[in-house]
Amino acid sequence: MLIRSIRARWVQCGIPADQQHVSDFGLITSFDTAIISVETEDGLVGWGEAKAAVGSAGGCQAVVAAVNHELGPSLIGRDATQITGAWDAMYNGPRAGYATERGRAFPILGRRGLVVSAMSGIDMALWDLLGRRLDVSVLDLWGGPRQPTMPAYASGGWADAEGIGAQLGGYVAAGFASVKMRVGVMDGDVATSVARVEAARHALGPEVEIMVDAHGTYSPPEALRFAAAVAHLGLRWFEEPVSADDLVGARRVRAASPIAIAAGESVFTRFDFRDLISNEAVDVLQPDLAICGGPSEGRRIAALAETHQLELAPHCWGSALSFSAGVSLAFASSASRIVEYSLGANPLLHDMPEEQSTVRDGVVHAPTGPGFGVTPRLDFLDEYEVK
Ligand SMILES: [Mg+2]
Repeated sequence: MLIRSIRARWVQCGIPADQQHVSDFGLITSFDTAIISVETEDGLVGWGEAKAAVGSAGGCQAVVAAVNHELGPSLIGRDATQITGAWDAMYNGPRAGYATERGRAFPILGRRGLVVSAMSGIDMALWDLLGRRLDVSVLDLWGGPRQPTMPAYASGGWADAEGIGAQLGGYVAAGFASVKMRVGVMDGDVATSVARVEAARHALGPEVEIMVDAHGTYSPPEALRFAAAVAHLGLRWFEEPVSADDLVGARRVRAASPIAIAAGESVFTRFDFRDLISNEAVDVLQPDLAICGGPSEGRRIAALAETHQLELAPHCWGSALSFSAGVSLAFASSASRIVEYSLGANPLLHDMPEEQSTVRDGVVHAPTGPGFGVTPRLDFLDEYEVK
C-alpha cells in the first residue's frame, strides 16, 4: 500500500460558443482544473482534483507543479492509508515531527493559496484510494449517508432582467426547486442587480427558492443596500457579499442583513473558517474540497458548522471528482440540507466520468461506488490535458 507515484495534469475543456456565459470573471470560454492521480505499488489508483480558481477557467500550471515537483515527491514511499499523517506532512513540511510531538500545526509557508489547493487534490485522491482498496464509498467510511437523497440547487443565473426569468425557469423545468443567480459588480450598479432579482421572483413565483451570489464583489455599503432592497423577496441566502479579504466588512454585512449570509469558497483550511465563525460573518459555510485542504479538512470544517449550529453547503463548481467529494461531505454531515449543482457548461462534470450522474430531476443520490465513485475516462484526460 506504499505510494509509488503522484501525478497532476491540467485539463482544459473548451466551451461551445452557444453555451458560454459572462460574469465578473469575464466570458467563460473553457473549464479548467487539475486532476490528480495517486498510484500505489500494487497498481491501485485514486483520483482527486485541485482547483486554481474558484470559477470555471484558470491556469493550472502552478498547482500542477506544486503537486508534481513539491508535495508529490515528498510522499513517495509512504503508506497510502495514513491520510492524516500525509496531510500533516504536506502542511508542516520538515517540521511535521514537531507538529506530531506538540499536537499543533507548525506550517511551512504554504498556509493558504495554491499550495493548499494542491494538497486538497492529493488528499482527495488518498481518500478515494482508501475507499477503492476497501471496496466501499468514502461516504460509508464517514458513517454513511444521513438520508438517501438530498435536494440539489441549480447554480447559474447570469441573464439580464429580461432574460433571467426564462433562464431560471429552465432550471425549474428541469426539476430543481431551488436556483441560484449571480449578482454584484457584473451588473454595473446595485439597482440593476435588484431589478434582476425582482424579475426572477416575479417570473418564478413564491414557491421556488432563490439564492444570490455576488462573488465577493460588493463594497459593504453596496451589499447592505442590495440586501435591504431585496429583503422582501424571500431569498434563501446571499453568497459572498464582500471580498473574502474583508472580514470586518463581512461581519458588518451579516449583522445588518435580513438574509442569511453564505461564504467560504474562497478561503482555506479550518483556520479561515474559524475566523469567519468567530467574527460572526457567516450563516452557511461553503468549503470547496478541491481548494480548502481536501476532504480531510472538509470534515474538520463540517464539525465546526455542526458545533456552531451553522449550515454546511459545500461549493461544488468543478469536475465530477470535487462534486462527488462535496456531495459525500454533505451527506455525512448533520449541518447539510442542500447541494450545489452547476448549470453552467461543464464537460468535466458531465462527460469526464465513466459513471452515470448521481443527480436526477433536481435530486442528488448518495454516492455508492468505491471511493468517491467517480473514475475519469483516460481518453478524456488524454484529449483535454494541456501538454
Ligand atoms: Mg459562489
